[in-house]
Amino acid sequence: VEHYLQNIKQKAQLNAFLETFDEEAFAQADAVDQKLANGTAGKLAGMVIGIKDVLAYKGHSLQASSQILNGFKSLYTAPAVQRLLEADAIIIGRQNCDEFAMGASNENSSFGNVLNADAEDRVPGGSSGGSAVAVQADLCLASIGSDTGGSVRQPASFCGVVGLKPTYSRISRYGLIAYASSFDQIGFITKSVEDAALLLEVTAGPDGMDSTASQREVPAYSELLQADKKYKIGYIRDCFESEGLDAEVKNAILNVKDMLKEAGHDVEPVEFPYLDYMVPSYYILTTAEASSNLGRFDGVKYGFRSDNATDLTSLYKKTRAEGFGPEVQRRIVLGTFVLSADYYDAYYTKAQKVRRLIKEKTDELLQAYDFLILPTAPTTAFKLGENTANPLAMYLADIFTVQASLAGVPAISIPVGRDTNGMSIGLQLMTRSFEEPQLLAFSNYIM
Ligand code: GLN
Repeated sequence: VEHYLQNIKQKAQLNAFLETFDEEAFAQADAVDQKLANGTAGKLAGMVIGIKDVLAYKGHSLQASSQILNGFKSLYTAPAVQRLLEADAIIIGRQNCDEFAMGASNENSSFGNVLNADAEDRVPGGSSGGSAVAVQADLCLASIGSDTGGSVRQPASFCGVVGLKPTYSRISRYGLIAYASSFDQIGFITKSVEDAALLLEVTAGPDGMDSTASQREVPAYSELLQADKKYKIGYIRDCFESEGLDAEVKNAILNVKDMLKEAGHDVEPVEFPYLDYMVPSYYILTTAEASSNLGRFDGVKYGFRSDNATDLTSLYKKTRAEGFGPEVQRRIVLGTFVLSADYYDAYYTKAQKVRRLIKEKTDELLQAYDFLILPTAPTTAFKLGENTANPLAMYLADIFTVQASLAGVPAISIPVGRDTNGMSIGLQLMTRSFEEPQLLAFSNYIM
């Protein structure tokens, strides 16, 4: 704990942590010491973990890096965090992220940008940018974050660490601030696949407070990390032909593909005809869900309330105008538009149908192949400010991560190389729902 707290202080310019929980972390460490001495320590004994500012931890500030939640403190602890504590992990602090997890570069936080520790003039990715940099820069051993359309995988790719998004519903979402509920999934950023397996094993499983959390039994993922068979792997050809894919990223991923083939795995190109529809359907559906989910932040129930209100309507308007940042406001407006009576069928209903097609095609491919491999992101970490003027360009950068989110299947990003600027390149693997054991085992094998 001392080691990490010192690193967090020394590398404060990275802006990865919003606050640290020094006293509690030391107390937790002392308790773990005692348990280790008497042989009762849990599976995560002594693992020092940071939590993204979207997960409830009783008595601590929870803001989704937004000013609209200024002053709000969690009334309870999210089961995902509670289970970490029960397994004797140590929670060291709260991590910076894009406001309400909306973003891909951590440039939408009301607490300022997070810097990539490999090159401080570059973004860490997002929305879990603080969580990824924290692991990259050795500010904690692992981070727990959320992935709605790539927010764990893409920053992991940009920071050279592992990012796991489990199957939708594998972990209870109770106590996770909602962005787009039919996509939101808790995930982990770690240095190794083994750590991701351990964290999943401890946090997954049914929960009385989230009826959508899967009832399926939770395998002992960390004991199933041996990939001892030859797999069938599809690489989505359309992804590799897509305009905007950086040549160095492309070559690095194709190299891994060739290595897997040489190692005796059955690797084939597959067609996925819906690439152009992925980002539009993702942004129509997630903004629609967000506009509804964020309706609760009205200045009455949580956190910040505008001082300039004169009546109830102006209280709502002024609180929301002052409390939400520009990207969140943009998405609320977009989402409200696509749900409005005149446009509902043209946008929302259509996007739901497209999502169904994407899910069916993805599931069909995953019946024929154990894994689909593709880049995690079309580029490596870009320069701060490079994409901020053009929200559409920023959205398009999510092209490879939103497929698993639209389909609800598990996916992981693992580091497989660096470009000539020294920035990390991530390989993404997807597999069938609830087949995390083979996803983790195979990723472990590749790393
Ligand atoms: N970049 C995507 C978005 O802005 C993904 C964010 C996320 O997964 N929370 O919606």
